Parts: sequence; structure tokens; C-alpha cells
Amino acid sequence: MTKNIGVLAIQGGFAEHIAMLEKLGVHCIEIRKKSDLISYHLDGLVLPGGESTVIGKLLRELDLFEKLKEMIGGGLPVLGTCAGMILLSKNIVNDTHIHLGAMNISVMRNAFGKQSGSFFIEGEFKGIGKIPMTFIRAPYIEKIWEDVDVLAKIDNHIVAAKQRNIIVTSFHPELASDLRVHEYFIDLIEDPKL
Ligand code: GLN
Repeated sequence: MTKNIGVLAIQGGFAEHIAMLEKLGVHCIEIRKKSDLISYHLDGLVLPGGESTVIGKLLRELDLFEKLKEMIGGGLPVLGTCAGMILLSKNIVNDTHIHLGAMNISVMRNAFGKQSGSFFIEGEFKGIGKIPMTFIRAPYIEKIWEDVDVLAKIDNHIVAAKQRNIIVTSFHPELASDLRVHEYFIDLIEDPKL
């Protein structure tokens, strides 16, 4: 059966995720309000890049926050990229706000430096191989604890990780033509034990 993946579409780079997921035969639902979360059966959720402070604020203003937190806590598979990773993190070393606080990671925002912070590199992703990685004012994970698995490192900094139903990347897999990270996410939906 065709899968329904919700893509948070209130700010940032959601359109690129949708284009990529549709190439993989998934049906995407743009999430802009609480009823979008309730009216459809969602098999997965994507939290895209953008500005985490803005998205975090909008989540609360649009009354999406509690329902999202509950769904993620209940095991809904989630892919969080860049700002999405910051939103999912239980700690942000250089911010006073914690958002969804769902994952046992501590992140640093704009960790690669503000000016030279956008770059492209090919890096090794666990279980996939070498993939293109586009970083845009990206965070990295400075600490993980308990049941978090490291999926990728660049310059000894963690840039992708997984905890049960949650996958996060510092980089933007949706900006390359390589579909493998999204494919991996769909595999996780199909087999939660992955
Ligand atoms: N710098 C942004 C933030 O802190 C994240 C950048 C991105 O998502 N490309 O939220």
C-alpha cells in the first residue's frame, strides 16, 4: 500500500523533500495545522531544514507542538534534517530553547561557523556508503547518550544519527539527486527493527 508521509510545511525546505519522496512512490501530506496530523493516517514524518527558532515558535502558535511530540514519542518514524535535527534534540548547547526534545542528542547550532558554514562534501553513511552531503549553516551533534547510533561523521563531528524511530542529519539529503537517505527512511518505516 502507498505510504503517507507527513512533511512539516510551515517554513524551510519542505518542497525538496516532497519531490524526493514522491520519486520514491510515497504520498506526501503537507503538515501546516493540527487537523493535518489528525485527518490522515501517517506512516512517517519529515521535519525539514529551515530556521529552528522560527519553526519551533510556529509549532507552538499553530498548535502543532503537543500532537507532534505525542506522535513522535509514540514511535512514529521521523526524519529530521538540519533545523529538523535541532527541533528533535534534547539539548542545544548554544540556545536557551529546547523544542520537541525527543532524541538523546546534544547539538550545537551553526556549528561549522556562520560565514564558511555552507559546504558540500561526500561522506560515508552507515549501511549506505558514500553519499553527497550539503551543509547549510548546519548543526552537528556534540554528544549522544543511551540508545543513539552514529550514522555519519565529518571531521570527527557526528552529522547523522538514529535513535529507534528517529533519524537525523545535519546535512540536506534532499538537495542532492541521491535518493538513498530517503530510501533508508522508508525502509525504517517498513521495518521498525532496522
Ligand atoms: N542554522 C539553522 C538553525 O539553527 C539550521 C540551518 C538549516 O536548517 N539549513 O536552525
